[in-house]
Amino acid sequence: MSNNKFIGAHVSAAGGVENAPIRAKEIGANAFALFTKNQRQWVAKPLTQKSIDSFKKNCTALGYSSEQILPHDSYLINLGAPEEEKLEKSRAAFIDEMERCQQLGLTLLNFHPGSHLKKISESECLTRIAESINLAHKAVPNVIAVIENTAGQGTNLGWKFEHIAAIIEQVEDKSRVGVCLDTCHTFVAGYDLRTKQACDDTFAEFDRIVGMHYLRAMHINDSKIALGGKVDRHHCLGEGEIGWDCFKYISQDSRFDGIPLILETTEPERWESEIQAMRAFSM
Ligand SMILES: [Zn+2]
Ligand SMILES: [Zn+2]
Repeated sequence: MSNNKFIGAHVSAAGGVENAPIRAKEIGANAFALFTKNQRQWVAKPLTQKSIDSFKKNCTALGYSSEQILPHDSYLINLGAPEEEKLEKSRAAFIDEMERCQQLGLTLLNFHPGSHLKKISESECLTRIAESINLAHKAVPNVIAVIENTAGQGTNLGWKFEHIAAIIEQVEDKSRVGVCLDTCHTFVAGYDLRTKQACDDTFAEFDRIVGMHYLRAMHINDSKIALGGKVDRHHCLGEGEIGWDCFKYISQDSRFDGIPLILETTEPERWESEIQAMRAFSM
């Protein structure tokens, strides 16, 4: 039996971040994701010392260490924004997100790379994203910037493994940059995951272009959209276009040990059974 899989879900932090580990425990998770502030607002009140202390206390009591926790940043942030004003605002907000992670004793920060909005070239946008990461690294110690691959919707970059490689190449401190592969995003971006062979091929391609050693987390989602559809619509495990073989593959492959495997599927009341199903495959 494998005890090395950290499987959980993106749980609510309503009422305070300290509630997230409690909610994770309730669904039998040994990993979780959370927003450390309202993800649809630019500014948030600083975390109170009371909230920080009880978050740390709850994590310790319930057995969650920083490598099992994957905070996600705000959806408003665009680290590759073409306009100077939006870029500055995004960079400041990202640094604030990193500081909140640091205050909570967390070492991973999951974010979506950014969008060119058809106003700058892809490569210019990727350079801006890398520079945003460099600035955040200089402002805040310890926290690893975890780039999430995207579905390729609109002008969002990061759906091609080459985009991710180009960002990492321009990051100065490579020990503090990583990748979170979202299975739904990977699939709708055009990388097949429906069979063992397809998974072998897709992760081999990721390894060749980016490097498996940069993989710091996974988002475990099925997809309502077909292969290559470039639209981001998550589905419950086994009910979408990807199917169980992919989730079984991830559960059984040691390359996915020791990193958060986070459900962002659409029905929270089913997370507990989805976690159990993933864990049953791994045994
Ligand atoms: Zn995300
Ligand atoms: Zn995701």
